[in-house]
Amino acid sequence: MFDLIVRNANLPDGRKGIDIGIQGGKIIAVEHNLQAQAGEEIDATDRLVSPPFVDPHFHMDATLSLGLPRMNVSGTLLEGIALWGELRPIVTKEELVDRALRYCDLAVTQGLLFIRSHVDTSDPRLVTVEAMIEVREKVAPYIDLQLVAFPQDGYYRSPGAIDALNRALDMGVDIVGGIPHFERTMGEGTASVEALCRIAADRGLPVDIHCDETDDPLSRHIETLAAETIRFGLQGRVAGSHLTSMHSMDNYYVSKLIPLMAEAEINVIPNPLINIMLQGRHDTYPKRRGMTRVRELMDAGLNVSFGHDCVMDPWYSMGSGDMLEVGHMAIHVAQMAGIDDKKKIFEALTVNSAKTMGIAGYGLEKGRSADLVILQASDTLEALRLKPNRLAVIRRGKVIARSAPRIGELFLDGRPARIDGGLDYVPRY
Ligand SMILES: [Zn+2]
Repeated sequence: MFDLIVRNANLPDGRKGIDIGIQGGKIIAVEHNLQAQAGEEIDATDRLVSPPFVDPHFHMDATLSLGLPRMNVSGTLLEGIALWGELRPIVTKEELVDRALRYCDLAVTQGLLFIRSHVDTSDPRLVTVEAMIEVREKVAPYIDLQLVAFPQDGYYRSPGAIDALNRALDMGVDIVGGIPHFERTMGEGTASVEALCRIAADRGLPVDIHCDETDDPLSRHIETLAAETIRFGLQGRVAGSHLTSMHSMDNYYVSKLIPLMAEAEINVIPNPLINIMLQGRHDTYPKRRGMTRVRELMDAGLNVSFGHDCVMDPWYSMGSGDMLEVGHMAIHVAQMAGIDDKKKIFEALTVNSAKTMGIAGYGLEKGRSADLVILQASDTLEALRLKPNRLAVIRRGKVIARSAPRIGELFLDGRPARIDGGLDYVPRY
């Protein structure tokens, strides 16, 4: 007797018609024709059942603040930072908590149940940190939220930033962040990476650096980050977020850099929506794409996962908490349109991101947490194409969100009355 059985599931690895038996919040059986009964059964009707989406790079303290106190006119990263600097001193903890909880509601309906959020530690009040720690506790029953202490205005550049970052970590923030390309000089950027890796090693914490989010091919803080990772023995526990300068770097230099990153087991986190929106702003034409070298990094064996980064905030006016939108953009910007390419992109939104965040018990195998999402699509490729509705979102064996399938009604003589834009158009490869 199971608590729940999800029947007729297509799995991300290509298995079809699978039944998933769940008991006590865990996956107990994954097999064809599961001969058992359950308190509740859900028929997935030959649609994709995936582990939840994972966002390894977000800004929960800034989300849904679009238009406050004004819009970003130039659309640049630097105006976004300046604009956030105007809003930050006047936000209240209540507003921050309210916006973050509203975002998490949206995330759950999108099947997004694991989020790593950077939290700005630049304001000495640390109201952002207090608010996000409260949110982390409030959403714990349905979202695993990791927090990164992020000195947005620079670790050395902003007075008081060193003390504030340490206080944030003392308060219980999980991960050490940084922004070396925003320090005053390359030298101070390098020094900040060294200092932040030392803090992480001393405290036994992971590292996640906003690294080289610029079109400057000489922005090479990722090299220092990889080297310091090895020096402090932090292999596998360090993430380089963005790495957009790698797009513009000299190919010979990159041929030496990527093996160093692989040796350091750096987790690579491009943010395709933000990168294509914010990078190349100083170019006329041709205009650079600005996303890092996803295919080359994957081919070198690095763990690549994609972040949403921003939703309706000073940097990005778009977004809907949908990691498939992130993957959809990644396919375009990285030009990864092949069948195997798309499978890798879907893995980057799920298993790779779970690895980046170090999530225990993630996946659809027996013994793992009973966290899963039923999508209105037949497989992972179709999910990326359609960004379909999440018909059911299950956390520890309980349905926590449902959405009705998207069905179009047609009123045309001689044509079908109803269209399921996904199932009715599945390609035969
Ligand atoms: Zn970011």
